Amino acid sequence: MTDLNNGFDDVDLEQSKLDDLDFDRQHIWHPYTSMTNPLPTFKVKKAYGVTIELEDGRQLIDGMSSWWCAIHGYNHPELNQAVTDQLQDMSHIMFGGFTHDPAIQLGKLLVQLTPPNLDKVFFADSGSVAVEVALKMAVQFWSSQGYTEKTNFVTPRSGYHGDTWNAMSVCDPVTGMHQIFGSSLPNRLFVPAPQVGFYEQWDQNDIAELEKTLAEQHATIAGLILEPIVQGAGGMRFYHPEYLRQAKLLCEKYNVLLIFDEIATGFGRTGKLFAWEHALVEPDIMCLGKGLTGGYMTLSATLTTKHIAETMSQGEAGVFMHGPTFMANPLACAVAVKSTQLLISQDWQSNIQRIEAQLRDALQPLQSLNHVHDVRVLGAIGVVELTVNVDMKTLQQEFVRRGIWIRPFGKLVYVMPPYVITAQELKTLLEQLVEVVKGMEQST
Ligand code: PMP
Repeated sequence: MTDLNNGFDDVDLEQSKLDDLDFDRQHIWHPYTSMTNPLPTFKVKKAYGVTIELEDGRQLIDGMSSWWCAIHGYNHPELNQAVTDQLQDMSHIMFGGFTHDPAIQLGKLLVQLTPPNLDKVFFADSGSVAVEVALKMAVQFWSSQGYTEKTNFVTPRSGYHGDTWNAMSVCDPVTGMHQIFGSSLPNRLFVPAPQVGFYEQWDQNDIAELEKTLAEQHATIAGLILEPIVQGAGGMRFYHPEYLRQAKLLCEKYNVLLIFDEIATGFGRTGKLFAWEHALVEPDIMCLGKGLTGGYMTLSATLTTKHIAETMSQGEAGVFMHGPTFMANPLACAVAVKSTQLLISQDWQSNIQRIEAQLRDALQPLQSLNHVHDVRVLGAIGVVELTVNVDMKTLQQEFVRRGIWIRPFGKLVYVMPPYVITAQELKTLLEQLVEVVKGMEQST
């Protein structure tokens, strides 16, 4: 025992020689980073409203909502209170054999706010797990009726659904991770990404490949999974609502479940509470995450219909075969209830329209630049697509130097600010963004 403690002391002593950022660089993995050539990371001291305060006192205006989830900004008094109150009762309790108020209240809200046909809720840990759950539901739904060959999935290219095994298998095969993981990933069916933009004239050809694939292979397809209206991390593409209506008709025709991944689009981001409302198409299964807890804690939900849930329950297994340790964590559910109530109790539509108008005014002029391929805005999402990949390392540092937080990827410089951003804060954020993008033209 003594020896072991001594061992720890030695390690501790060794580490204390490193400053914290060095320790971080040497020992702690960040998302999508190298352990030999890490990107610069900035140490955050605290965050409040739309301000991220760094250790050295610099303040950044947040344009990312912490990867699109902190919809009410940081350190929100009502959300803080919800967590604090829940802590007095219990932070966690197993969900097997127990239930509790936060889960019940959140379940009621989600059943009420999502498409009318969805009324069974499965709470899971993260967006990726919600997608795993959705895929498993689809396979179990078919297998419980004897359709054991219906195990595959079809999905449009340029999609993103998460980093776990099966979620990864339905991400875009080029920008996703298919090459690295090769044959260890299940082989999914990919159709071209929707080409007709959200604001463009619908063209029936856009759905032709999906129709062909479903016609030919529906016997082996359990579901069609897609991000409704906005393809997020796979390219920030906004497509036509008619695509969803046509996809729904095809799914009905060919006996394939329709799965909407609303993890990024949910909770007002696209100007509707959920993106399905742009098309008024009810999916069979829907995944929620990110903004569900206002970015306070990790929590996700997968919703499905009574018919699917009952069919699965009548199959051979008799139960749905999934049950994470932290399922319906009470702290996460409590803050999710408060975050959702906070959102729907305000005139959030007008607020998103205000952000949308400001994004459009500020970003549209960039369209005329030679090195800008496209500028697009929908709800509280503003995207500048360049003609070449950005140098993330340099750009990120430049944004921080200018007091804003934007994390570009690929050819995309985009903002998804917290909804509490004021007109003045958004003005500053966008002025800096615009200057940086204009500056890139001079340097190319
Ligand atoms: N689906 C979509 C549409 C997403 O945008 C994301 C996250 N960017 C995920 C799934 C995965 O969520 P998580 O990172 O919480 O696992």
